[in-house]
Amino acid sequence: MYGITHVSVGALLGALWQNPFGAAVGGLVSHGILDAVPHHDYKTPVPALIDIGLSTAALYFLWQKGNTDPKPGSYSMFAGGLLAALPDVEIIMGYILDKMKKGWRWPRIYPSHTGLIRHGHMDFPHGFYLQAAVIVGCLLGIYLLKFRPI
Ligand SMILES: [Zn+2]
Repeated sequence: MYGITHVSVGALLGALWQNPFGAAVGGLVSHGILDAVPHHDYKTPVPALIDIGLSTAALYFLWQKGNTDPKPGSYSMFAGGLLAALPDVEIIMGYILDKMKKGWRWPRIYPSHTGLIRHGHMDFPHGFYLQAAVIVGCLLGIYLLKFRPI
């Protein structure tokens, strides 16, 4: 799935489970579950750069939210989002380095990237709409849990 989809689900887990370590483990596990769901993956650099930019901005926002929130577990959304997206760093590294060095492959270790967990596929646009719906649902959940004025 897109990085921003993983960050959204990880952040929602962190909003639900306000413990940074628990949220981080939940985020890491969620990556494999989401990758198994049929979805669209982009194959060209421009959408990848947009996705990386959105994901980084979202993580920065979550980090800032953690900085300004005095409650315990304030970094749980950041931790969940970060660990949910982290496995895809090996995909980015592979994309760059596999092209630079012919006949060599950056090692993939996360189970949904090695083939141990089957990677789901759904064509564009349905695979895109699915992820947009997941992101909107997560944002709504995060808003209701963490940002709604009481
Ligand atoms: Zn992945």
